[in-house]
Formats: sequence, structure tokens, C-alpha cells
Amino acid sequence: MYNTLTRRREKFEPLAPPHVGMYVCGPTVYGDAHIGHAKSYVSFDVIVRYLRYLGYRVTYVQNITDVGHLTDDADQGEDKVERKAKAERVHPMQIAETYTRSYFEDMDRLNVARPGVSPRASGHIIEQIELVKRLLETGHAYEVGGSVYFDVASWPKYGRLSGRSVNEMQAGARVEVSAEKRHPADFAVWKRAEPGHIMQWPSPWGQGYPGWHLECSAMSMKYLGESFDIHGGGIENQFPHHEDEIAQAEAATGKPFVKYWLHNNMVTVNGQKMGKSLGNFITLQDAFKKWDPMVLRLFILQSHYRSPLDFSDEALNAAKEGYDHLARAAESLRKQVVTADEKIAETFDGPVRHRIDAIAAQFEEAMQDDFNTAAALGSLQDLRREANRLLGESNVPLGCFHLLAGLFRDLGFKVLGLKDLHFGTAHYLYTSEGLGMTDAVTTTLSASAQVREVPKERIALIDLREQARKAKNFALADDIRKRLDEIGIVLEDTPTGTVWRFK
Ligand SMILES: [Zn+2]
Repeated sequence: MYNTLTRRREKFEPLAPPHVGMYVCGPTVYGDAHIGHAKSYVSFDVIVRYLRYLGYRVTYVQNITDVGHLTDDADQGEDKVERKAKAERVHPMQIAETYTRSYFEDMDRLNVARPGVSPRASGHIIEQIELVKRLLETGHAYEVGGSVYFDVASWPKYGRLSGRSVNEMQAGARVEVSAEKRHPADFAVWKRAEPGHIMQWPSPWGQGYPGWHLECSAMSMKYLGESFDIHGGGIENQFPHHEDEIAQAEAATGKPFVKYWLHNNMVTVNGQKMGKSLGNFITLQDAFKKWDPMVLRLFILQSHYRSPLDFSDEALNAAKEGYDHLARAAESLRKQVVTADEKIAETFDGPVRHRIDAIAAQFEEAMQDDFNTAAALGSLQDLRREANRLLGESNVPLGCFHLLAGLFRDLGFKVLGLKDLHFGTAHYLYTSEGLGMTDAVTTTLSASAQVREVPKERIALIDLREQARKAKNFALADDIRKRLDEIGIVLEDTPTGTVWRFK
């Protein structure tokens, strides 16, 4: 994976395998999620899915920023959530609640698996105050009139992630730098609440609220430990947000904070930067009126997460065609097999098997190459072509279709998260991994969880009927077929064996 911190591709070696701790900066909940959010969280979702597919136990933490994110990076301006609340004349927590819910609803539709922990900044004020205290104790922060600032001059490594030097920051500083700061690059870890500020808490330095960057250091370390494996976020957050996170965490603990930093690129619309002021701002709710969420998901995965993505109707139309091809092939395969059975798949061998295995290997190679989903999707389409060819042939062993179904499920559904490529039940999606959680954690939110499952005893019945037929006990075979038909399972005898499907 490409590590922004070292500016090169590195072999992934987690600190304590098979466990992986991963933190991704979540949304500031003051407005509807847009296609930029979709690109970011779909990209990191596939990274989490792929690591799990490889057998890692990933604890995925993604925060909810509901306090402290100001309209201006230089510790000036209004709190974004509070500003929206004032405009709508409601409490800021109501704004945070509304947009947290709509964010998760949008992500559910995109089949983004929910994080194991979604900590809110306002729920971790105590942890943030503790971190400020540690920074004051270690001499990396100073208090002025009820606000506390990080002292960048005390931290020589400041600027390592973004490649900026403190001197450059000084030269480029804006005029309105607070007179309280010793150095223009110093940033607030705790802010004094001005009169009229709604969201404020008592602290050793008086009434105030945390600086935005602080929450990610405090909450990631709380749930993943003082050193952890992967930190992700948007490329626009490299500086100052991530730079500040590193400084706060490492200055307080004296330990390396994060091993791998992954940054996702931005979305443009018809070649232009997307922005509310430019009138080309596309919320997900608007996008879903026009496009199936899975088409949007496939569209995002057609480009690399570190590349910018240009959104246009033509590009989405092409993605729709690509998705429809895959979904149709899966549907045709499903007529042959309902669940992928590895044991039946194993019975299939020969040159066709080798060709299919080679395509699957190409998929994995692409994903191993810094999560190249564009190339992986190419392999999935190759697999689809192979499936269509075989579906049109006669005398293809059932094992072949079980093999293809297993690959559609594992590569297309489990790794890339494309909903219509599942076979069998879809509980995998909402299985939370990590601290104190078991595989049994499921939710009913998944539309695909409505897929009918064939209980094992019915599969046993199908096997028994097959035996009866082979033993030429046709009366018994017919009776079993009739009973299965009554419970919604149709059997079809083909020259290569019996296939079954739901009515
Ligand atoms: Zn963050």
C-alpha cells in the first residue's frame, strides 16, 4: 500500500497480526452527504473488506464530528454544526443527530459496511481534556486566557506528513493570526467559549470546547491503542488536520502514532471542482434519484482511490452498463446454483478451471497493488464473460457453476461490496469484527439479507432424492421431489446431475 508518510509503496505488516487497527476520519454532520463522501467511504470500505477477506481481524473506527469543526482552518470562524443549528433555530445536537442518521442511511444504500465503532466528538470530551493535560505536562502546549495551543516549535517533526516546513507555514500565514499564538502555525487544542457559544464544557482552563483535530487523536488512541496500523482520510485533510493529529498524539505519548497513512483523492464534476458556491454540488440523495446506488459504487471503484474521480452523466451511464452485465450474469448463475458450495466446486477440474483460477489470481494481484479496484473490476468482468460463455454451453459440470458462484460472491460481493453478486445469505456484510464483538452481530438493515436461505436438512433431502434416483427407487424420488416442491424448491434433472432453484 502507498504510505503518504514515507511517500512510497510498502509491504503491509500490521503491528500485531492478525489484528489490524484502522481509523478513518468521518463526516462533520451539518449537511447531507455528497458524492465526495461516497468516494471516500466506499474506497475505505473496500480496503477494510479486502483486509478481512485476507483473514485479518480489522477493528474499524470512524468518527462523527459533531463539535469543534470551524468554518476556518486557522482556528477562526464559527462551529459548522452550531452555525447550521442557528440558521434552523434548533439545538446543535439535533442537527448532529439528523445528519448522522442520514449519513448512515446513505452509506447503507451504498453497501458500505458500518464501522465497528463510530465515536462522537461530543461524547469524548473527557478523553480530549485528558490529552490536553498531557500536552501541557510534557511542555508541548501552552495556555492563554482559557485557550490551549499546541506549540509547534517544541515539535521538530511537525510537517513530516505534508512535507511542509514550519518556516514556510510562517511565510504563508494569514494576516488574521490570533495574537494569542506564539507561532502562526500553532493550533488550538482547546478553545475558550466566546459569549453565545452553545456547545461548551467545563475544563481546568474554564468553559470551552475542543479544537477539531484533537478528537481524532483522542478517539483513535482510545479504541485502537497509542500506536496503530492504518489511518485514512481525504487528501485535503493531510494538512493541517492529519499533521496536527500526529503532533498531538506523538508529543503526548512519545510513541509512533500511525504506521500507514492512506489518502483518498477528490471528486470533480464535469472536470470542475465540486462546491456549493459553484452550483455543481451533488448530494447522494439527489444522485440516488437518478442512479442505482450500486451503479455509483461500481463507478467509484472504476478509478483508483488515490486518483481524482470525474463525475458525469456519460461516465455513470457506462458504469450502469457494466453493472447490469455483472448483475445479469449473477442472476443466470443463480438459476444453476443458489449457494456456492466449495465441495461441489472442488470436483471441477481441467483447462477451464485453470483459466478461471488465473482470472481470480489476477483479481488478487490487482488488489495487492495498493488496492487497484479498477484492475480488479476488469478481472471480474473477465470472469463474467467466462461465465456467460459456459452458461451457453451444454454438459458443463455443476462444479463449474459452483466455482463461479463462489468467485462472484467472494470477489464481487464480499470484497467489492456489489450487492447483486451474492450467493446464499448476506450476513457477512454486517458482521462486526473487533473488540468484544462476535460474528453473530447482524442487523436487519441489509436488503440482501432477505435472500432465502436453504436449511441444511433440505439440502440433505435433495441429496437423498439423488441417491434414490440413482438406486432407481423412482417412487421415493418422486415423493421427495413433490415434498420439496411444496416448500418452494424446484428440482430439475439435467444430463450432468440435478440442479435446484427456488420457485
Ligand atoms: Zn480526523
